[in-house]
Amino acid sequence: MAQTVTVTPRGAERIHLGHRWIYRTDVADADASAGAVVAVTDTRRRRLGDALYSDRSQIALRMVTTGDERASAGLWRTRLDAAVRFRATLAIDATAYRLVNADADLLPSLIVDRYGDCLVVQALSQGADRLMPEVIPTLVDLCAPRGILARNDAKVRLLEGLEQRVEVVHGDVPERIEVVEGGVRFEADLFKGQKTGLFLDQRENRDAAARYASGRMLDCFTYNGGFGLRAARTCEHVIAVDVSAEACARVRANAVLNGFANVEVREANVFDELRELDRAGERFDTIVLDPPAFAKSRAALPKAISGYKEINLRALKLLRPGGYLVTCTCSYHVDEATFGEIVYAAAIDTGSTVTVVEKRMQGRDHPVVLGLPETYYLKCFVLRRLA
Ligand code: SAH
Repeated sequence: MAQTVTVTPRGAERIHLGHRWIYRTDVADADASAGAVVAVTDTRRRRLGDALYSDRSQIALRMVTTGDERASAGLWRTRLDAAVRFRATLAIDATAYRLVNADADLLPSLIVDRYGDCLVVQALSQGADRLMPEVIPTLVDLCAPRGILARNDAKVRLLEGLEQRVEVVHGDVPERIEVVEGGVRFEADLFKGQKTGLFLDQRENRDAAARYASGRMLDCFTYNGGFGLRAARTCEHVIAVDVSAEACARVRANAVLNGFANVEVREANVFDELRELDRAGERFDTIVLDPPAFAKSRAALPKAISGYKEINLRALKLLRPGGYLVTCTCSYHVDEATFGEIVYAAAIDTGSTVTVVEKRMQGRDHPVVLGLPETYYLKCFVLRRLA
C-alpha cells in the first residue's frame, strides 16, 4: 500500500494555490520513509496528489502530481521526455543549457544540464536521489550522451542528510569540456566549476548584453568571462574583474581560445576596483554587474540592499551618458520591485537620469513556476544612462 502523508488545512491551501513545497510545520501526520513517493491527503482524507517525501529537510513534501494524476512508473520518463522536447523548441544558440529545471519541469529537485555531448545531473532531495537509478538510464535513452556526471556536492543535500559526491555515472566525462555560446567558445570544468560548471541561467542576459555592448566595457564579477567575452567582438576594450585568481586564469584562457586581444583581466574586489576606476577618472560605455547572491536569507536583506546600492551607484558614476548598465541580482529575497528601488536610489544619488530599457530574468530554459515564487530568483535590468 502507498505510504501516506496528511497535511494541515494550511498545507492543503498552499497546494490549492499552486505552491509545490510543503513545510514540515504543515504536515499533520506522516507514515512514510525517506525519499519515498507518497500519497498526500488533507485531514479529511481527501486526496491532494502525490509527492516526494523527505524525513530531514524543512521542506517535507515536494508535489509531483496534484489531484487524481498518479506518480506511476512511466511518469518520470514522460516528464524527462517533455523537458528535453521543450528545450528543443527554444532555438537556443549554445551547446550548454538546462535540460531539466526541477519543479519547472514537474521533476522536483532534479537538475539536468547539457554541456555539449555530456550531461550533468544534480539530485537535491532524498526523493530525487532515490529516483537516480531510473533517471540515468532514461537520460541515456533520450539524449545518448557521451557521459553523465552526478554533481552531488551541492550544500542543500546536507539538509537532506545526503552525502556530498561527484561521480561519473555513465560513459566518460572529460576534465574540461568546450562549449559554444553565441559563437564564443568557453571551457567548462564540470567537476569543480561553480553550479554545474557555468552560469547557464545568465545565457540569455549575456545574449542581450552583447546586443547593447560597445566601446569600453567593464564586466564585474566575470567568473569565466561570460558577459565580457560575449561582447568582446563589438567592444574596443573589455576589462573583466573577479576576486578569484582561478576565475581570472580561466578568463585569460578563454580569451586566448577565441583569439581576443582586447580583453584585460583584473583580479580584484569589485567594490574596491569601482572606487579605483573612479579615482583614476576612467569612464565606460557598457558596464555589467553580476554579483553573487548578497542576500542568502531574509535576515541578510538590509545589508544586501546596501551592497547592491553601492555597486550600482559606483557603476552609474563610471558610465558615460548614452551608456548601458546591465545589472543583475540572483537573490530571491531581493524581488523585482526592491531591485527597482535600489537602482532608482542609485540614480538619484549620482544625479543621473536613467531609463529602463529591459527587465529580464533567468533564461527560458529555467522557467518560473506561477505559485512557486522561489523559482523567480534572477532579475536583470538593462539600464541606459541618458545624462
Ligand atoms: N557573470 C558570470 C557569473 C558571475 S558569478 C557569468 O556570466 O558567468 C559571481 C562571481 O563573482 C564569481 O566568479 C565570484 O568569484 C565573484 N565574486 C564574488 N565576490 C566578489 C567581489 N567582491 N569582487 C569580485 N568578484 C567577486
